[in-house]
Order: sequence, then structure tokens, then C-alpha cells
Amino acid sequence: MARVINFSAGPATLPEAVLKQAAEEMLDWHGSGQSVMEMSHRGKEFMSIAAQAEADLRELMGIPANYKVLFLQGGASLQFAMIPINLLRGKTGADYVNTGEWAKKAIKEAKQYCQVNVVASSEDRSFTYAPAQADWKLNKDAAYVHYTANETIGGVEFHWTPEMGDVPLVCDMSSNILSRPVGVSKYGLIYAGAQKNIGPAGLTIAIVRDDLIGQTLPKTPVMLDYKTHAENESMYNTPPTYGIYIAGLVFQWIKQNGGLSAMHQRNQEKAALLYAFLDQSQFFVSPVARADRSLMNVPFTLKKADLDEEFLKGAKSRSMIQLKGHRSVGGMRASIYNAMPVEGVRTLVDYMKEFEAKHG
Ligand SMILES: *Cc1c(COP(=O)(O)O)cnc(C)c1O
Repeated sequence: MARVINFSAGPATLPEAVLKQAAEEMLDWHGSGQSVMEMSHRGKEFMSIAAQAEADLRELMGIPANYKVLFLQGGASLQFAMIPINLLRGKTGADYVNTGEWAKKAIKEAKQYCQVNVVASSEDRSFTYAPAQADWKLNKDAAYVHYTANETIGGVEFHWTPEMGDVPLVCDMSSNILSRPVGVSKYGLIYAGAQKNIGPAGLTIAIVRDDLIGQTLPKTPVMLDYKTHAENESMYNTPPTYGIYIAGLVFQWIKQNGGLSAMHQRNQEKAALLYAFLDQSQFFVSPVARADRSLMNVPFTLKKADLDEEFLKGAKSRSMIQLKGHRSVGGMRASIYNAMPVEGVRTLVDYMKEFEAKHG
């Protein structure tokens, strides 16, 4: 069995140890005689899996007791709507920071429900940096402030946490959750689709401060109300059981590998290999401002764009896949989440060196 080196932005590569454990437990989970996929979500076996997953996530992220952890569906994209629906709480406006493709989608959806104030934007330089907080023109009466911690497509990451005071800070952490330690208490709400750095697609995690729950817009569908999920331990209806199980295995894998500080350390080392090479290269270019470069998604371009296809072909012949950049940006993008081993990044850098020597 030969596994590829998968640089996909999502669904993304998962830790091999997790996949092996899932394979071993596929037909018979812990002597229960059934696969996790076949279990009642209300049975004691699955309830224990979900409770353990939540406990491990709480431990890893240091989630305070006054925050609910919700296992949802609909992706981060549904959160773009659920956030204004739940968090406006009688207010009419919300502040958004526009840093690229994902922020734009969040803004577009929120506009259906409220006055969106774009309080900072990096559009002036093609979304290649993270606007400093001093430049955010915040509104005191905003219902919340929303930003995208890591722009998966543009490869721009906030390496600092905004300080908000009383206005709840809402963060799309889809592509960098669990990649580093985070001060959860600085946030009102953190959300993430699972398929980047957590587990399989179909699971979405929201971490919501208690006092923000329970004041939805009129006629909110019951499934879009955080209260429904908070009051029912994410089991109001059938949750994405298998996704929760795999996420739980990933949480344990992170714990066994030193927790979020160790992940951060490893992620910094991996990203440094790639950025150090890009910075000295005469052939490959990173478009992102140095201080704001993502540890998770590394876009780069070739000085001769007509060689893109050849670069991808050569990568594929070396078992490296999914390096093509997003259609909106072009060029290449290497996504190097927690589960990407350092050897994967080394193999990529070695190939880039070789390619430059030949074509540069
Ligand atoms: C992938 C992604 C999304 C969209 O996630 P879905 O689960 O596909 O809805 C939103 N925000 C960011 C930052 C992402 O990386």
C-alpha cells in the first residue's frame, strides 16, 4: 500500500495512526460487535465516544466551563448564516474584517441579516496581509466582530488575537484550529469545519460562550438555533456520528503528540522549511507579507506560469498531489496541516529545488 503525500486544502490528509486505528475498529468497535457507523447515537457506546471527544477537545484548547462545544453540520458555510441569526441579539449591525475569499463569503451571508460594517480590509493589496488591529475601525454598538483567523485560499494568517473588550469576537478557525494554542476566553464564538485540521467533512464544531445563546431572530429554524444543540448535547437530531468519532481519534492523537504547543512547534518548523526555500529562490515566489504568512496553507507561484502543468506532473510522479492553487489565485498551494509530516514538506522542497535547477 503506497500512500500519497496529500497537500489538499480540504478534505485534507489525516494522521496515519488515526486511519489505522479506525480501520482496526471498523467492524467491531471495542467489542461492541458493531461499527461506529452502525451505532445508535443515543446508545451508551456512542454517547461515550462523543463525551470523550468533547472532553479531549476541551482539554486541548483549554475551553472554559462557560463555553458550549457544539458538534454541528452544514460546514463553516452554514455558520456564516447562523452567526448573525444567533448573535445579533436585537442589534442591527456587525463588524467584519475582510481578508479574502472566506471573509467575503461570511460578509455576503451576514448582509442578508444585518448591516455589515467592513471595519478593515486587505483588498488594497490583493488580500496578501492581515490588517493590524490599530487599523480596524470598530463600532461600539456592533453585535460582534468577525474575522477569519486563516485565509485558506490566500494563505494569510493572524498570528495574534484581536482584543475586543465587550464586543464578542467571532472567529472562523476552519483551517487553523488545533494548529496552535488559543486563548478561548478572548472569543465569543469560534467555529470550524472539520475537514481541514480535525477530521472528515460533514462535522462542524462551534465553541460558543453561554451568554450568547438563546436570542435568535424570529422564525429561526430550530436546527439553526445554537440553543437547540446546546440544550441537547448536540443530539437534538442525529449528529454526524462517524465524523465525531474520527475527530475524537484525532484529538487523542494530538494529545499523544504533545498537545497544541507541540503542534505549533512542528507547524512552525514545517512552514519555515518551505518559506526559507521560497525566500531564496529565483524561480518560486510567495505573494504573502512575511509577518502574516500562514503556517497551514502556503501559496506560491512559478516565475514562468507556463510551467505550472509540468510542475504538477512532476509532483504527481513523486506521489505529491493537490498542489494546484485555488482557481481564484492560480499558481500552487501546499496545505501542510497538523497531519502533514515534516518529511512530506522536505520531499516538496527537494522537488522544488530540482525543478528550479532544471528550469530556472
Ligand atoms: C473551507 C473553509 C470554509 C468553508 O467550509 P465548509 O465546511 O466547506 O462550509 C470556511 N472558512 C474557511 C476559512 C475555510 O477554510
